[in-house]
Amino acid sequence: MSTLLRCDNLCFTYGKGTPFEKDAVKNVSLDIRKGEVIGVIGHTGSGKSTLMQMLNGLIKPTSGAVYLEDADINADKSKLRDVRFRVGLVFQYPENQLFEETVRKDISFGPRNMGLPEDAIKERVKRAAEFAGLKSELLDRSPFDLSGGEKRRAAIAGVIAMDPEILILDEPTAGLDPMGRDVLLSQIEAYHNARNNTVLLVSHSMEDIASIADRVLVMNKGECVMFDTTQSVFSRSAELEAMGLRVPQITKITTELRKRGVPLSEGILTVEQAFDEIRAILKKEGRI
Ligand code: ADP
Repeated sequence: MSTLLRCDNLCFTYGKGTPFEKDAVKNVSLDIRKGEVIGVIGHTGSGKSTLMQMLNGLIKPTSGAVYLEDADINADKSKLRDVRFRVGLVFQYPENQLFEETVRKDISFGPRNMGLPEDAIKERVKRAAEFAGLKSELLDRSPFDLSGGEKRRAAIAGVIAMDPEILILDEPTAGLDPMGRDVLLSQIEAYHNARNNTVLLVSHSMEDIASIADRVLVMNKGECVMFDTTQSVFSRSAELEAMGLRVPQITKITTELRKRGVPLSEGILTVEQAFDEIRAILKKEGRI
């Protein structure tokens, strides 16, 4: 897989030169490939959101650079708009940014700014709403009449409608009930599978990350301290715990069982995988 997005020594300082100066991101260098799903984890305040906003040019690095297919995204200001179409960012609590009279107008906003013809916009809105799990009868309502979960879906659809090559979701399931979280996550996964785009998912849920990510980026105090396969990162539980993070509960349980001699694979990441393996062991032992 070829590199699509590259960060080179990226730094960001809030309030530079003021008494409130804060180094939020420090010397982050990394490569993101086409079609990957990257999980982004880290304690609150570790710099995840700041890093994500630099990736689509919303904020400019204090030093260092972001390259999208080898072009420095901040080199030419007039091209930043195109970068934002190509790298779609769904903020934390994006429903707060719905502002049009109807949901349809809100979702159309991005594709319209891209200068697409009306019939293409219509098609994009329809498809984005489907991917985000938003019922079509809600499209002509005011966004303010929707439930919290529906507003979230509408906001996500607005970004998906631009068909970004890279989709960045900052805590997309925050504040949703467990059922809503599962459904939204599986829709994000289905969208990725259908479009084969690159997805960056910031989440506090290790279970969500384990179920969807190919690689995991760990931020700690503004630095990227790990960037490896999901299995490798979650096999470093002691280091993660020292940063106030944890591994998925199923990984923890199966690691403990392995230590006690149960012949399970190392680094099990999902309940489904654990279930299949335990079932196979019990069958082999003639217990079921
Ligand atoms: P995370 O997304 O991991 O919670 P953030 O990127 O939001 O981390 O924040 C990184 C650091 O930058 C934190 O110390 C936070 O307090 C600080 N910070 C974030 N946004 C601002 C801002 N607008 N002004 C000043 N400091 C900020």
